[in-house]
Amino acid sequence: MSNKIEIITAYTLQQCNSCKEQSKQKFSDGDYIFKEISKCSSCDGQVMVTKIFGESLTQ
Ligand SMILES: [Zn+2]
Repeated sequence: MSNKIEIITAYTLQQCNSCKEQSKQKFSDGDYIFKEISKCSSCDGQVMVTKIFGESLTQ
């Protein structure tokens, strides 16, 4: 008997509004689109959440 468990993990895509550098982070409570996360590590821009998405991992 196969018992597949599908785990969906939510991620946020964060992008600097200046140099457009993107990073993918695990979703954390309270994240929403256009939330300001932090200052960019490579320039003085503001990093914001641009996308929230889920990826499923089948185990
Ligand atoms: Zn930047």
